[in-house]
Amino acid sequence: MTRQDFTQLPPAHAGASARRRSSPRRTPAVLAVAAVLLAALFGIYPLLDRADSPVVQAVDDALAQGSASSGPTGVDGGEIPDGAATLDDDLPAITGLDPALADAVRQAAADAAADDIDFWITSGWRSPAYQQELLDQAVRKHGGLEEARKVVATPEKSAHVSGEAVDIGPTEGDYWLIQHGTDYGLCQVYSNEIWHFELLTEPGGTCPPMLDGAAG
Ligand SMILES: [Zn+2]
Repeated sequence: MTRQDFTQLPPAHAGASARRRSSPRRTPAVLAVAAVLLAALFGIYPLLDRADSPVVQAVDDALAQGSASSGPTGVDGGEIPDGAATLDDDLPAITGLDPALADAVRQAAADAAADDIDFWITSGWRSPAYQQELLDQAVRKHGGLEEARKVVATPEKSAHVSGEAVDIGPTEGDYWLIQHGTDYGLCQVYSNEIWHFELLTEPGGTCPPMLDGAAG
């Protein structure tokens, strides 16, 4: 295209050519905006209140669970690495359960699934050392053994240590089991723990009265 041809182009083409020529001047502006956005992102993250931010808490929890250790207070002691297990998982937390309790929970889970409710085990069998570790954590969090005992049992008392208790999640699964658990002999034990179930009656039987302010 000769210079003369260019000057004869219709106005629309001339305009497009002008916009192309202007684009290099816009690029620094785009980069500047991107830089400001990145700076804001990385500047804000450390300022988030870590305890109150659900997103940051979820990330921290995932990191903590990902680093689950072996040994008596880790997976070998009943820790569930991702916080959710099924009865088919080959984990000490599951294989250490009383077989009758495991069967009851397995049947309940199958029937709940038929009701479009999926639930899983968040905690099952625990070694005495793991139970003690949970109690120690609660003491640090609540500032004393008396308060900690309201939320975590001692290794001597916990039905988790004898393989006779399961904690169930999520909440909708807890409510399903509270409603239907007696069909399988499963009972909520503590009024302050909707997730903790034990095999305490015959299928179709009646659960004993719930305990107040205690911990399993
Ligand atoms: Zn429990």
